[in-house]
Amino acid sequence: MMSDWIFMNGTYVHREDAKVSVFDRGYLFGDGVFEGIRAYNGNVFKLKEHIGRLFDSAHSLLISIPYTHDEIKNIVIETLKKNHLDTAYIRIIVSRGVGDRYNLDPFVCMNPQLIVITEKFNAFSSEFYDNGVEVLTVPTRRNRADTLPPQVKSLNYLNNILVKIEAKLAGMQDGLILNTEGYVAESTTQNLFIYKNDKLITPPCSQGALEGITRNTVIDLAREYGYNVEEGLITRYDVYTAEEVFMTGTAAEIISVVKVDGRVIGLGKPGKHATKLFENFKKYVVIEGEKIE
Ligand code: PMP
Repeated sequence: MMSDWIFMNGTYVHREDAKVSVFDRGYLFGDGVFEGIRAYNGNVFKLKEHIGRLFDSAHSLLISIPYTHDEIKNIVIETLKKNHLDTAYIRIIVSRGVGDRYNLDPFVCMNPQLIVITEKFNAFSSEFYDNGVEVLTVPTRRNRADTLPPQVKSLNYLNNILVKIEAKLAGMQDGLILNTEGYVAESTTQNLFIYKNDKLITPPCSQGALEGITRNTVIDLAREYGYNVEEGLITRYDVYTAEEVFMTGTAAEIISVVKVDGRVIGLGKPGKHATKLFENFKKYVVIEGEKIE
């Protein structure tokens, strides 16, 4: 039988045997961290950066990952090879592990678990890329930095899930999230950019955005192509009156937003800057990262 191999705590197990204890704190409390990564034609895009973010998230939660950066890099590559995948979606999950039943105290749980899953990537509908998407500002605000900091890519995605619920109930794919000050943070799982007055602007991560690897790549590429890129506060007014708005993320890559809260953005279709950046991004993803060899 064809079966995917999943790396679990030092061994490779078949997909159907990849089971986690009901006492794992990732399950009980969302107590863990994760990464979503893509491999393109034998190149794991920005693997080092993803692993860096994984360690930063874990460090901030006092989860001590029992592997080095290089070991995790090798495990990801090996898992892809074992599954004969050179183009894939990769999920790294680290939970604090199985603790003392329902005891919340993290210090009585010192056995973090590492799981690496690799799968064929299911591309988004081409309609999103051809026509762009419509989004709506949702009532749920982004977690404040002094609660569960949005820069931590933790297993607790409830803030984002509430946003997704609100967006979907309103008939939209995604929602625009404001922070508690009313400035734009990001969308459910993507960073946001606007193009206005010859400037490409994205919110600083301190305003409630994850430090997206795609976001950082787009900033670098745009600067390389001579764009004036700024991290700055963005209001809803700025979004409504922008020439272009687009979102970035590992799964979606770059998707144009053509309507926000009923306001048409620019010409109401994917704009030339997003299109240019996306074309260059697609060339870049097969080059920058770790080779599956
Ligand atoms: N924001 C959130 C909340 C996310 O979950 C993601 C996806 N990881 C992003 C932004 C985009 O980040 P990246 O480009 O690293 O996928």
